[in-house]
Amino acid sequence: MTRTDHASLPAVPRRTVLVSGASIAGPVLAFWLTRYGYAVTVVEKASAPRSGGYPVDVRGTALEVLRRMGLLSRLRDAHIDLRRLTFLRGDGSQVASIHPHTVTGGVAGRDLEVRRGDLADALYTAIRDDVEFVFDDSIHTLDQSGDGVDVTFHGGGSRTFDLVLGADGMHSRTRDMVFGPEEQFHRYLGYCFAVFTMRNTFGLSHETVMWNTPGRAAALYATGHGDELHAFLNFARPEPPFDAFPDPGAQRDLVAAVFADAGWEVPGILAAMREADDVFFDAVSQIRMPRWHRGRVALAGDAAYAPSFLTGQGTSLALVGAYMLAGSLADADHAEGFAAYERDTREFVAANQGLVGEGGATLFPTTVAALEQRNDRLRKLSDMPAAQGRPEHSALTLPTFTITNPTQHAHR
Ligand SMILES: Cc1cc2nc3c(=O)[nH]c(=O)nc-3n(C[C@H](O)[C@H](O)[C@H](O)COP(=O)(O)OP(=O)(O)OC[C@H]3O[C@@H](n4cnc5c(N)ncnc54)[C@H](O)[C@@H]3O)c2cc1C
Repeated sequence: MTRTDHASLPAVPRRTVLVSGASIAGPVLAFWLTRYGYAVTVVEKASAPRSGGYPVDVRGTALEVLRRMGLLSRLRDAHIDLRRLTFLRGDGSQVASIHPHTVTGGVAGRDLEVRRGDLADALYTAIRDDVEFVFDDSIHTLDQSGDGVDVTFHGGGSRTFDLVLGADGMHSRTRDMVFGPEEQFHRYLGYCFAVFTMRNTFGLSHETVMWNTPGRAAALYATGHGDELHAFLNFARPEPPFDAFPDPGAQRDLVAAVFADAGWEVPGILAAMREADDVFFDAVSQIRMPRWHRGRVALAGDAAYAPSFLTGQGTSLALVGAYMLAGSLADADHAEGFAAYERDTREFVAANQGLVGEGGATLFPTTVAALEQRNDRLRKLSDMPAAQGRPEHSALTLPTFTITNPTQHAHR
């Protein structure tokens, strides 16, 4: 990568930024802010960059962010190249087998599908020498004043930063501390899911097989990496299971109860879930906020506008949103910069959050009639060529941000 040319910046203390979260949005913020002359610290509650993980898509405008970071060709080597998506009925018989892009709106040869860990690792590697990382720690308190943000950390110690940016995901603590409880921004979409890895004893490669009954889906996703298989269990539920969220045992019990009488390979998948050490359970939800900034604190990625996996756009929104937030601060003070970030990014976010219901949700019908209709549609789709992309994925043309006023970088 091209390093920041700090020599070209004035010899005054640089503005300091604390970024909370080192997954997707956090490292992108750190990368660009460092280039714009900021001194960046990233605090991450995990003890190291989180590797592994389910496959994610990067599409449209977000590909340009990776290209500008010099990471696109490296990540093309990590592309999973999913070739087939096969749908099964409750008894395990086949409904249809189609190219995945037919339902996701992805574009063959252009869009990326990579393991989340491969993307996070590429982002971290691009910045680790230029940015201060603090792992195994998190923000305890935030106190904003006219001059800065006083931060104390759970690990002890306190520091003052000019700005704090929350990139700490859907259940962001930064958002809780500055904007209030999650409930007011949380839009539950009526499903819960669990994902985990299990052994690939099915001979699957570069493909997904999805079993459905009304309100329930079980999918096996083979990335083609050795023995790796991602199991995914999704089920409809009118209210979020608040009691289960803090309790991994209760999450497993709930999933097992919902799928107790299921056929096909589901009993084996449930047995694997009991053994798995990486079960990730959550509600399928969006975060919608009227404002993404307050004072000297702003949010990016899932923390501000999680769109849910039903849109397949969470990673892309995190990449684009972080690029836009950092860029808005390149040449402006935080008040102007945060306002510009919202003004220039909101429409793109809203369009992509609005994709719920166009792709993913229709894959998980909750009634017998709706499931039959979906199966009819899938059979017809199997005769059609793959889609050519959704306009929402590319609905923002990335600006190029430059520094024309170096004094903005003086500590203030
Ligand atoms: C099963 C599943 C499938 C998905 N599939 C897709 C897909 O196909 N396409 C797609 O685009 N997206 C997909 N997503 C969504 C995608 O993973 C997220 O939208 C994306 O990772 C958002 O990035 P982020 O950096 O904003 O947040 P996250 O990736 O959630 O990262 C938040 C980071 O903050 C850290 N953190 C949390 N709390 C604190 C704290 N208090 N202090 C410090 N650090 C903290 C976390 O450890 C984590 O490293 C999927 C998600 C799931 C769960």
